[in-house]
Amino acid sequence: MDDIMSLCKRRGFIYQASEIYGGINGFWDYGPLGTMLKRNLREAWWQDVVMMPCWGRKGPDGEPVTNLPLDTCIIQNPKVWEASGHVAGFNDPMVDDKETKQRFRADHLFGLFVCISGDYAKDGLIRLVAFMTKVPPVRTVVASSSHEALELALADRKAMKPYKLGAVLDRITGGDESSTIIEVEDKDGAKGFGLFVPVYAGKWGTEYLRSNPQLIPSPFSGKSGSLTEPRAFNLMFKTFIGATAGADDIAYLRPETAQGIFVNFKNVVDTNRVKVPFGIAQTGKAFRNEVTPRNFTYRSREFEQMEIEFFCHESQAMDWYAFWRDWRMEWWKSIGLGGENIILREHAADELAHYSKATSDIEYRFPFTAPGFGELEGIAYRGNFDLTQHQKHSGAKLEYNDTTRGELAANGQPKGERYLPHVIEPSAGLDRGVLALLCEAYTKDASRASPEFMKFHPRIAPIKAAVFPLVNKDGMPEVAEKLHADLMKKFGRTGLIETDPKQSIGKRYARMDEAGCPFCFTIDGETLTNQTVTVRDRDTGGQERIALNTVVSFVSEKLGM
Ligand code: ATP
Repeated sequence: MDDIMSLCKRRGFIYQASEIYGGINGFWDYGPLGTMLKRNLREAWWQDVVMMPCWGRKGPDGEPVTNLPLDTCIIQNPKVWEASGHVAGFNDPMVDDKETKQRFRADHLFGLFVCISGDYAKDGLIRLVAFMTKVPPVRTVVASSSHEALELALADRKAMKPYKLGAVLDRITGGDESSTIIEVEDKDGAKGFGLFVPVYAGKWGTEYLRSNPQLIPSPFSGKSGSLTEPRAFNLMFKTFIGATAGADDIAYLRPETAQGIFVNFKNVVDTNRVKVPFGIAQTGKAFRNEVTPRNFTYRSREFEQMEIEFFCHESQAMDWYAFWRDWRMEWWKSIGLGGENIILREHAADELAHYSKATSDIEYRFPFTAPGFGELEGIAYRGNFDLTQHQKHSGAKLEYNDTTRGELAANGQPKGERYLPHVIEPSAGLDRGVLALLCEAYTKDASRASPEFMKFHPRIAPIKAAVFPLVNKDGMPEVAEKLHADLMKKFGRTGLIETDPKQSIGKRYARMDEAGCPFCFTIDGETLTNQTVTVRDRDTGGQERIALNTVVSFVSEKLGM
C-alpha cells in the first residue's frame, strides 16, 4: 500500500488535503490524473445506470430498466435525519486510550490469531487477541484463549465467514502465504510463531470490551487497563444555518446521498411519466465524522457515493434484489476488477438491519485488508422502511397509486392499489471504487523502464492515448500535432490525450505506463515515407505498425466506443 500511495502522490493521483499545513486527518484531494480517473468511474456508472441502465438489459419483469437522475442538497431539513434514524442511531462505539489519548472503534478491536508452533500454542490452537489493524504488536497479550469465546465471535459476526475455523485451519495446513506469519511472545514470555488473520468483530467486540475493559490491552501501548468503555459517537457533521448559530439552527452534512432521493420520491413520481418499478440515481458527496479515518481514502470523512434507490412492488422485491446484486457485481468486473480480488458476500440473517430482508456486499481485497476483503458497495433490500419513516415524520402522503394492480372492476380493469413501494438500494463508494481500481492496476515489473505501472481498463484510464514524435524535428512534430488533434476531437471528452516531444522515447513510454495510458503512438522516420505509426501496448510493451489513418478507429475499437 505504501508503494501505491507514493506513486499516487508522485504522479498526481491523490494528495493529502491541506498538505502544506500538515494535512487534515480523513480528507484527501485528487490531483489531475486522479481527478480524471474518478471522473471516468463516476461517468461509467452514470452511463450504465442512468443513460443506458444495465447496458439495456431487461429486468426480472421483462421490461427495460428505468433509472431517473437526481441531484439533491448536502444540507436538508434536520428532520430528514430524525426520520431516517441517523440522529438517534448513526453511531459508532468509540474507545479512548486514557494514557496515549488515542481513539479507535471498539468494533474494530479484535483479530484472530492462530498459533502454529512454539510454547505459545501449548494450551490449544487458537487464541483471540486484541489488536488494532493489520499486524498486532509483537508483544501480544492474550485476551482470551478459550474456544468458546472464539466460537461465540464467529457465530456473532458472519463477516468472519472467510475465516471460519475450518478455513483458518485450512490456511495453516495449506500453507497459504497471504496471511501474515508473525513471531509472538505472550505475557509470560512464551514464544512462538503464529498466523495472523485480521477480522472485524463487530458488535461482539464492543460487548466484550464493555464487559472486560480491564482485560483488553490497548492497541497503542499494549497495556491493559487504560481503555475507556465504548461510548456512542454520532458520525454526522453538524453545522449551523443562519447568523444566530443557536441550538435551533443545527443542521447536518448528509452522511449518505440516499435520503435526498427518498424525500423527493413523490416529486419525481408526480412530475414524470414514470411507473413503479423504477429507480432514482444520484452521485454526490457524503460526510461522516469517522472515529478512525484510515487506509488512505478507504475510510475518509468526506467522500462521494453513487446510489440507486430502486422502487418496486413488494411481491417483486426479491427478484429485483437478485437482479441488482448480480448486475452490480458484473459491472465492477466490466471495468477491470476481476479475478479473485472481488467477491460478493451475502449477509447472514443475524447481520441484517432490522428493516432489511436481504443484503449483500461487493467486497474487494485491498492490500490493507488482505487476505480479507473490504466493502466497495452494499446492495440492500430495505423493505419500505425509509418511505414509511418519511411519511410518518413529515405527514406527507407518499403512497404510490399503482393502476396496474388490485381487484378487477366491472369494466375488467384493475381498481388500482395504493402502497409504499419497497426499495432495493445499490450503494457504492466512488472513492473506494477509485482506490480499488488503483490497487488492481498497480503492477510491479523490475525489468521494465517503468518498474511500476498502472494497468487501468481503457474505459477508466485517465489518459486514453499518447502521441509522440520520435524526434522533435524533420516534420514529425507536425504529424504528431495533427494526430493529437484528431484523437482529441474524437476522445477528448472521455479522457486526456497526451502529446510530448521531449526526452528519450523510453522515458516518455515509462511516464505513460505509470499514468496507465493504454496506447502510445509514435511518429518516426517511416511515418513520413509510408504513412504508418507504431502503436505500443502498455501491458506487454509490444509494438506494431498500423496505418496513420486507422489510429482513430483503432482507439475507438479498443475503447468500445
Ligand atoms: P463501512 O462498514 O465500511 O463503514 P458502511 O456499511 O457504513 O461502510 P454504507 O453506509 O453502506 O457503508 O455506504 C455505502 C458505501 O459508501 C460503502 O460501500 C462505501 O463504498 C462508501 N463509504 C462509506 N463510508 C465511507 C467512508 N468513510 N469513506 C469512503 N467511503 C465510504
